[in-house]
This record gives sequence, structure tokens and C-alpha cells, in this order.
Amino acid sequence: MVNLEKLVSLAKRRGFIYPGSEIYGGLTGTWDYGPLGVELKNNIKKEFWKSMVYDRDDVVGLDAAILMNPKVWEASGHVQAFTDPLVECKVCHARLRADQKEEIETHENSHKGQKVVWTEPKRFNLLVEAKLGVLEDAKQKVYLRGEITQGVHVNFKNVIDSSRMQIPFGIAQIGKAFRNEITPGNFTFRSREFEQMELQFYVKADLKEAEKWFLYWKEERMKWYVSLGIDKSKLRFRQHEENERAHYAKDAWDIEYDSPFGWKEFEGIHNRGDWDLSQHQKHSGQDLTYFDQEENKHYLPWVIETSGGVDRATLFFLADAYTQDGDRTVLKLHPKLAPYKVAVFPLLANKPDLVKKARSVYELLTMNHQLAPVVWDDRGNIGKRYLSQDEIGTPYCITIDFETLEDDTVTIRDRDTTKQERVKSEKLSEILIGKIAAG
Ligand code: ATP
Repeated sequence: MVNLEKLVSLAKRRGFIYPGSEIYGGLTGTWDYGPLGVELKNNIKKEFWKSMVYDRDDVVGLDAAILMNPKVWEASGHVQAFTDPLVECKVCHARLRADQKEEIETHENSHKGQKVVWTEPKRFNLLVEAKLGVLEDAKQKVYLRGEITQGVHVNFKNVIDSSRMQIPFGIAQIGKAFRNEITPGNFTFRSREFEQMELQFYVKADLKEAEKWFLYWKEERMKWYVSLGIDKSKLRFRQHEENERAHYAKDAWDIEYDSPFGWKEFEGIHNRGDWDLSQHQKHSGQDLTYFDQEENKHYLPWVIETSGGVDRATLFFLADAYTQDGDRTVLKLHPKLAPYKVAVFPLLANKPDLVKKARSVYELLTMNHQLAPVVWDDRGNIGKRYLSQDEIGTPYCITIDFETLEDDTVTIRDRDTTKQERVKSEKLSEILIGKIAAG
């Protein structure tokens, strides 16, 4: 298991993740994704969208605004109940979440012999406030969305009226959310600005039907993480205790990962019942019922939600891929997620014939969007280039050598096995696409 410091250091050094606003001393709970991080994160989002929207005919996509009428958050219960229990250490005034037992224990131990006394827990609201408007004294208080979910529910009627979706069907969305977390930390795991990838799946208002779809989506989401290479033995389901569930949830399970800092939530699967639609119907005064033609009646559907974090997924895919193989550090990322799919090298940088041929192979591969982005490297010796690509997870390295100039064959070197094979350069794209698809 990789330790967190090693991962943080590799992420920074190789351009995956940097601390937010670093040159100004940072801003707690914010992170910036570098050239490789943005590729990895985009690939995760692409795979999510593909599996949710493109591969199915019962889910459509949506992209709602981050800023919403504040009434949305009153209706959804967030203004009232989107809170964590905050306690303060009377010795050093550190503020922690009372429900995070491990952190509380670590803090108490940090005071060695001194007995820690905590204040009574206070409900601390996580919504981040902002102000909108051009007149200073008439600015309107708004919230940066605390979850992306509500943007979907307030558009339920719009989607029904403008598409041909019929229950059961879902709406998928990916986007930023903001929370004034009491204890941001564990690298990107708990941030104050983060991205979520969600599905709100609308089903008949019926317990049995909801339970059937709940089970279905729970399994589907677990399969998705495994299909992208996460070690199965490091994944588990955990059901929330009744007192742990969010204010809207009838049933809630987490998919957890055995991370460098313990078993932690990757994604939640929730049965939200008709909480959201009934609240928005009540507060907006609009009819949000669905007309079921089969049953010839109007009702508010129930919602099964799958809610994952893009940043947590990025972190756990990185942690899971990190492998020390002798003196090689290898990120064994699934080829579909790897920032670069292919690297192209001329064996020697000072031989114009080799460089010219390598450049033409590089340009040919670059034209193929399934292989993008392709990276060029002609620095140092070939061994160093392999090591450098291993560390960022590039699954295939192509070398153009003197044999290439004779018979137009190139070598493909595999990141995980380090084995090499020679193939005709005209077949290269096809072979690589096949390998990436097979994982
Ligand atoms: P936690 O118990 O860890 O605070 P949560 O149960 O409040 O999380 P949800 O509200 O269910 O989380 O949010 C859905 C998903 O959004 C989580 O599974 C996680 O992947 C992501 N997420 C939530 N809060 C954060 C955060 N502060 N930083 C990064 N990702 C987050």
C-alpha cells in the first residue's frame, strides 16, 4: 500500500495535483489539477458519462447552474439540516467533527498527558455563501451548491416535457460542489471545492420497485470501479446506520475503498424516496407529478441516487495504481484512464533518420483520437524514458530503432510486464486501440 506522502509528492512532481493558490500560501481545502491530473480526471468523467449516458437508453445528461435560487436550498432541507456536529478542543481551540472518532482520538493523543475537554457539539452548516448583485446594500445572498443533486430535481419537469423519457429513467450529471468542511484533509479526499458525478434515477412510487433498482445500481456502480481496474479486494459495501443517514435518505450504502488512511467512502447509493420532488413541489407551488400512462395516474416518482466524487475517484485510482516494482515506480492505471496512452521515442536523438521516422509515427498516432494524447520523448537514454513513463502510467512505449529503417517495424513495450514486441508500423494504431479496449 502506498503511503500518502509518496503519492502527494509524485502527484506534485509529475503534474497531477498541486495545492490550490500555492504561490500565495495556498487555500485550505482546494487543489489544482496539472497537465496529467486533468487528463486522468477527464478520463474518469468520460468513462462515467459513457457507462451512464451513451451505453444506455434509459439515462440522459444534464448540466445545471452552480448558482441557484436560494429557495432551492430551503426546500431541499440544506439550509436547515446540511450540518455536521462541530466540537472545539478547550485546550487548543482546534475544531473537529464530533462524529469522526479517529480524528478525535488522534487529537486527544496529540495532547499526550493533558486531558482534553470538548465543547458540546454545535450543528455547523456546510453551505458556502456568496453574494450576487450590483448594488452593495441590495446584494442577494446565494449559496454555492452543496451537492449537484438539486439542479437535477428542479429540472425534472423540464426533462420530462422536452424528451421522451418514461419512468423508470435517470438523469446523470457531473459538476462542482462546495462545502465548508470543518476538517478538510487527507489530500484531496475532503476538499471544500470538489466535483461530483451522479445519477438520479426516477422509479415508480413503490417500495418493492425502489428496492429492486437500489440493488441494481449498487451492483452496477461497484462493477464500474472494478472494470476500470480497482483491486476488488480493496472495495466493500457499507450500510449507513439509521442515525448516520442524510436527512432525505430512506436507505444508504457506501462503496468504500481500503485507502492509505483507512476504509473510506468513494461513492454513496441512496434511496431518496420522493423527498426532493415533494419538497420542491411544496415550496415552488408547481405541479411536479409524473403522468404514468400505463397506470393512468399522476404521482411523484421515487429516486435512487448514485453519488460519487470525481476527486476521490482520482485519488483512489492513483493510490490503487501505485506500485513499487524493484526500483521502478509504476502507476498501473487502466489504459482507458492513463493520462497518456502512448509514448513515442526515437532510439537516439542525434540520428536524423531515426528522429524523422519517429516523428512520422508520432504524427500518425496523434491523428487517431482514440490514442490521444500521444507523448513524444527524446531526452536521455531509452531506459530512463521507460522509467519516466512508468511513473505516470503510460501503458505503451513505442521505440523507433535502426531495424525500423530497414523493415518498418517498431517495438511496443508494455508498462506492466516490460515485455517488448515488434510490429509493422502500419498496424500500430489498430494494435494499440485493441490493447487499450481490452485493458
Ligand atoms: P462524508 O461522510 O465523507 O462527509 P458524505 O456522505 O457527506 O461524505 P455525500 O453527500 O454522499 O458525501 O456526497 C457524495 C460524494 O461526493 C461522496 O461519496 C464523495 O465522493 C464526494 N464528496 C463529498 N464531500 C466531499 C468532499 N468534501 N471532498 C471531496 N469529495 C466529496
